[in-house]
Amino acid sequence: MRVLFVTSECYPLVKTGGLADVSAALPQALRALGVDVRVLLPGYPAVLCGLEGKRMVRSLTGIPGVGRGALVAGVLPGGVPAYAIESPALYGRAGNPYLTASGADWADNHVRFAALGWVAAEIARTGADDTQWQPDLIHGNDWQSGLMPAYVAFMGSRRPATVMTIHNIAYQGQFSPALLSTVHLPPHSYHMHGVEYYGGIGFLKAGLYYADRLTTVSPTYAREIQSAEHGCGFEGLLSTRTDDLTGILNGVDYGIWNPALDGHLVANYDHTSVEIKAHNKAALQVEFGLDVNPAAPLFAMVSRLNWHKGADLLAEALPALFARGGQVVLLGTGDAGLEGALSALGAAHPRSAGVHIGYDEAQAHRIQAGADVLLVPSRAEPCGLTQLYAMRYGTLPLVRRTGGLEDTVIDATPAALADGCATGFAFDEATPTALGWAIRRAMDLYRAPDRWRAMQQRAMTRDFGWAGSAREYLQLYQGLAR
Ligand code: ADP
Repeated sequence: MRVLFVTSECYPLVKTGGLADVSAALPQALRALGVDVRVLLPGYPAVLCGLEGKRMVRSLTGIPGVGRGALVAGVLPGGVPAYAIESPALYGRAGNPYLTASGADWADNHVRFAALGWVAAEIARTGADDTQWQPDLIHGNDWQSGLMPAYVAFMGSRRPATVMTIHNIAYQGQFSPALLSTVHLPPHSYHMHGVEYYGGIGFLKAGLYYADRLTTVSPTYAREIQSAEHGCGFEGLLSTRTDDLTGILNGVDYGIWNPALDGHLVANYDHTSVEIKAHNKAALQVEFGLDVNPAAPLFAMVSRLNWHKGADLLAEALPALFARGGQVVLLGTGDAGLEGALSALGAAHPRSAGVHIGYDEAQAHRIQAGADVLLVPSRAEPCGLTQLYAMRYGTLPLVRRTGGLEDTVIDATPAALADGCATGFAFDEATPTALGWAIRRAMDLYRAPDRWRAMQQRAMTRDFGWAGSAREYLQLYQGLAR
């Protein structure tokens, strides 16, 4: 089976969040199952530089916004074949793929990502290269690929099947209706039963309306997005497609996130040598200028800093954490107000709090290895990857009970502790008080080293690898491919 996997980011070439990790790992896992999957990416400078054996395979004409361009082929660092759209006018700029240096959306994002979907459909129509490679199925991801299923739907009967995955329903790609012809959509598509969404062109709406099947990244999030609380306006449409919507958990690439092999750590360890983790904790305390105290429970967060991630809840809960002798390290970027508030807390408690406003892949690994508890107090979390990484590193996740966090972390209730199945801590209400109580529970348990270690070992040996999830995607593909 031939599958074109369409995505706007892919680790290690371009990454702003979990989608990049998924786009690197899932295609690899599918190839291991015998699927001829190839990735299609925008030709950002980092992608054009990072593709091995890069060669031009065909010219493209009629690309939305710019007309001409080229399709180049190569191999991603993980060994998966990929295509990239070469168009300096659309993608030849440094920095974040979606935002300017000042944090505004690139003004031409409508054509930059219409082009991604349009080229995917063009590959299905006329072939990717001289071997005439044409997909049986195209798998799009998030709003940036959202127009792909619409373009494919307008191809007529000789068309591939389409799947759309929602990695985060809060990002929707909403543009002016005046751009309809610019993005090569026919006038009749501008309809409630089409691409129209709240008086504009909705890229994600188009994907959710036209794709043959929909998936999202955890079973709980698949249920949640059919409700007004989490659907962000799409609950009505998704409720009509409930039989087409599946939740498949994201996995972890244990080739990259594995404390036994991780080259970023001062000391490697696994579940049989978890005491070695203490060296990483001491190194992390030094790195962030904290008191080097093995007895102080060290909490951490590695995240985009925004309201959805509950960064504001953390800011409010921190003073009580410090008062009880806890420490925190924080790595993230996001809303300026939250960055400021968290930095100020760091400055006010220099021996207990280390705050790094920035993006640093290597430091994210060191934090996962050095911390005792990883905080993920999200208001909404489609799947969440950091809690899965944390578990493998023996860092117990403390999460809000929502989306994929609910599906992956087993709260340390008395019953779960007695059964030996607990892997972390969970709380319900999105309030600083509820977060604070969960932090307190974690601190209490931290003072019972035998129980803590048993939980670490349980968390470290849970398998969240991609093999099982890739098989679920394959089943879904097989049910669809024509
Ligand atoms: P989301 O995709 O919503 O941002 P996920 O938990 O699914 O959340 O994935 C986040 C990914 O981005 C993880 O790989 C995490 O380690 C990484 N990450 C987030 N913020 C940073 C940062 N400031 N520096 C390094 N890595 C980060």
